[in-house]
Amino acid sequence: MTLRLATVRNRAHFVIGDNSDPRIVDVAKVSNNALPSDPMECLARWSELQAFAQTLDTSSAVAVTLEELDCPVPRPRQMFAIGLNYKKHAAEMGSPLPPLPLVFSKFQSSLNSPAGDVKVVGETVDYESELVIIVGKGGRDIVEANAWQHIAGLCVGQDVSDRGLQYMGSPAQFNMGKSRCGFSPIGPWVTDMTDNPNRDNLHLGCTVNGEKRQDTHTNDMIFNIAHIVSYLSTVVELFPGDVIYTGSPFGVGHGHKPPRYMKPGDVVETTLEGVGTIRNRFV
Ligand code: ZN
Repeated sequence: MTLRLATVRNRAHFVIGDNSDPRIVDVAKVSNNALPSDPMECLARWSELQAFAQTLDTSSAVAVTLEELDCPVPRPRQMFAIGLNYKKHAAEMGSPLPPLPLVFSKFQSSLNSPAGDVKVVGETVDYESELVIIVGKGGRDIVEANAWQHIAGLCVGQDVSDRGLQYMGSPAQFNMGKSRCGFSPIGPWVTDMTDNPNRDNLHLGCTVNGEKRQDTHTNDMIFNIAHIVSYLSTVVELFPGDVIYTGSPFGVGHGHKPPRYMKPGDVVETTLEGVGTIRNRFV
């Protein structure tokens, strides 16, 4: 069974069933407290959860809705994001291709749940669908060939952006414009990719009010998942539960002519193949 980890009422849960009929099992209860209830501790002990999931007793499983899910990674020590990591997106933003991963931070207080509301602050709030890496085993100087061994799994996320704030100065600064309240929804759960042969070529996309806006495959990334993890670790230490947004593909609102920014009442559904869908209402 593929290990998937959700957070519900602040406790870690295994997810079973398919994405249209998810059910959950409390990690600590089903293991008689051999495994922790804290999602962050679970991410640090990922290999133990992987082993336990293979013989999981699912008789206590209960149905869960997207609205009941909390952010699957509630307290990461660090949150990274990569900018301009898809060629067509760099073009729509009017930016040259970065010679090395362009790294910024989405501050932790911007984290949001998979069905959480996002406040529309001003006239230039935008969406960015992204594949999100969740670090399992941390470390420094991780070589690219071993990078996947340091990844617990993937989430789908939105890198919500206030373009006015992002591009207010020269040079632009990304951190603040991408860190307003609720600007970092991720979910619906952390999905282990160990057994997924397509983990570097997953379909990623989103709709706004049912209209398709982003539609790509993640093998279009300029810097792939293993390279990003390896590169970050040459500079900073990575810790279990760290969150890494990997960049948005073409089709953001800012790239339309004229731009199509978010309005109160808009609903964005973001899907990553093999992981699932999050749904966020802008209010
Ligand atoms: Zn982004």
